[in-house]
Amino acid sequence: MTAVPATPIVELVDVSKRYGTVQALNGVSLDVNRGEVVCLIGPSGSGKSTLLRAINALDSIDGGTVIFDGIDVHGPRTDIRKVRQRMGMVFQGFELFPHMTARANVSVGPHKILKLSRQDANYRADELLAKVGLVDKADVYPAQLSGGQQQRVAIARALAMHPDMMLFDEPTSALDPETIGEVLSVMKQLADEGMTMVVVTHEMTFAARVAHRVAVFDKGRIIEIGSPHQVFEAPTVTRTRDFLRHLGWDGSSARSV
Ligand code: ADP
Ligand code: MG
Repeated sequence: MTAVPATPIVELVDVSKRYGTVQALNGVSLDVNRGEVVCLIGPSGSGKSTLLRAINALDSIDGGTVIFDGIDVHGPRTDIRKVRQRMGMVFQGFELFPHMTARANVSVGPHKILKLSRQDANYRADELLAKVGLVDKADVYPAQLSGGQQQRVAIARALAMHPDMMLFDEPTSALDPETIGEVLSVMKQLADEGMTMVVVTHEMTFAARVAHRVAVFDKGRIIEIGSPHQVFEAPTVTRTRDFLRHLGWDGSSARSV
């Protein structure tokens, strides 16, 4: 784990979001420092995805502020497309373009949006596909790839836009168990290179190994936040302990990674 410079790239202050009668976020405050990896854990429906959508304004918020690199993300005069371009997002379902090869999926954004020449965009795509271990799959269509391979293409596609930060929403939850590790190892490599990452995950071993901090969500709030060591081995909140026990995590597993 590398030392974390303590300059926040994202600052959430008292963020709230309601869907009808459901208070999806109930006053969440969180700073994410540059180069930091923050894992969000907690039961289904606790607000983790809503928080990611608040960070990149895929959804509106009802209260509070989200500042990204000094920009008020939800401000009325903010060019949100510009902000979003600086945040790579990786979802559970890879959402690749099915009619495009892996290379085309990765190069289309840099070509169309960043205005790289097709040649330069393809060159960069091939570099990124090599980085995620798919050097031989550039000409292959998504349907011919395993879930883990498709997710690695999705990561390469996000990286191709030169993001300042990556947001992951359960990137391995839809994968066959045998392909989860290859995706997590690409994510660990990114973290080791100093990428700022916010990762919603149920992979506690990954969180324990890679996160600088782990935030535990429950009912729209962060009920506990701290180092993986503190959260996994000495949780102070009963509901954190209940959640980890429910997952079969007994603390001793943290030492085995
Ligand atoms: P998590 O990602 O932790 O499973 P979510 O952030 O997806 O939780 O959801 C938090 C709460 O908000 C849940 O009760 C969920 O049903 C509700 N919710 C999320 N998105 C919507 C939506 N688009 N419309 C209505 N309710 C939603
Ligand atoms: Mg979710």
